[in-house]
Amino acid sequence: MEKKWKDDKPREYYAKYRKVDVKNHQDWFEVYELPKNVYGICEPSQFQEVNIFLVIGDKKALLFDTGMGIRKIKPLVEELYQGEIIVVNSHFHFDHIANNYCFDGVHAYCDKYNKYVSEHGLPKEALGNQLEEIMFRYGYPKGFNPEEYHIPPYNLIPVEEGHIFDLGNRKLEVIHTPGHSHDGIMLFDKENRILLTGDTFYPGALYAHFDNEEFGKFSMEDYISSMEKVSKLIPDLDYLYSSHRDFTAEPIKLKETADALKRIRDKDDTLDYIVVDEGHTYLEDGNTLKEAKFDGFSIIFKG
Ligand SMILES: [Zn+2]
Repeated sequence: MEKKWKDDKPREYYAKYRKVDVKNHQDWFEVYELPKNVYGICEPSQFQEVNIFLVIGDKKALLFDTGMGIRKIKPLVEELYQGEIIVVNSHFHFDHIANNYCFDGVHAYCDKYNKYVSEHGLPKEALGNQLEEIMFRYGYPKGFNPEEYHIPPYNLIPVEEGHIFDLGNRKLEVIHTPGHSHDGIMLFDKENRILLTGDTFYPGALYAHFDNEEFGKFSMEDYISSMEKVSKLIPDLDYLYSSHRDFTAEPIKLKETADALKRIRDKDDTLDYIVVDEGHTYLEDGNTLKEAKFDGFSIIFKG
């Protein structure tokens, strides 16, 4: 029988970080201390394995994404930081925005797709098979009813390229990085030499194929330009902080992703890829998808 995601062991890479003992884990979230005064909050028991970041400054904190909405993130972040918290979305995909409605406003790059979702929310149907029990490592968490799941509308506060979030002793600059989705942003903390990359890069299977209303329109040319733009920051970076799988990755991965995308665009015939099986979990729209493997990540693409 085909091996399922949930039969994999919990990830070993969490052992690299100190786990923080929290009251409001709700048998769902885990919190780790990352370098540079950042908390990494993860949802390791659902297939997406989403990461959320709480960046601590001396005047304010910044929450990068709000998670899948299976459990409530707000009590947890308020336990970790008592003070003003600026909430920002890496992009508008469901696994990053589902607790947005619990906050007064969420900063994001605004385009017609995320504007629509912020005004209307998302029904559970938009999540494809993501809410099936097989997508949960230990089955549904106690009290969770997938039939009642939906993502409520929320208050979107538009931000542009170059906007600075000022936390007092640290500043994070918005870099617009369309590609994975048009509204994708990264946050650059120059002083602390980190880049929060959202889903535009993470050390797993990168999605380079979306073409629908709920998830926006992927663009290969935009994706390549974005990765080339942020590759210029590599000498100024110690870590990438990514929104799925392991929290941290090496900055050189930015350039490797740009190069990998170019090989896919140019139909490089030395590229190794597999055809992704039907019934996979990439929220596809009936098109054949392929997966090309690279060092420490892969790319899912149409072809
Ligand atoms: Zn995601």
